[in-house]
Amino acid sequence: MALMITKECIICGACEPECPNDAIYAGECIYEINPELCTECVGYSDEPQCRLVCPVPESVLINPDSQETKGELLKKKLMMDID
Ligand code: SF4
Repeated sequence: MALMITKECIICGACEPECPNDAIYAGECIYEINPELCTECVGYSDEPQCRLVCPVPESVLINPDSQETKGELLKKKLMMDID
């Protein structure tokens, strides 16, 4: 699964530089997460770094449209490391 940022985002930008996959970007209204790049930080850290630094952590949720197992997330991370 990838994570997603909800409209509770206060647009502080703390999350963007913390993402190991450069999955976070400033959207039109709030920060957004590219589900193609988000690995929930699997293979990098035990904790999603964006949620860890977010002052409103309840604004960072599981993206229901991006359901992946931990193994699939790790494979995604390894493939990105190769590229
Ligand atoms: Fe990036 Fe990790 Fe947040 Fe996904 S969970 S957007 S990989 S910091």
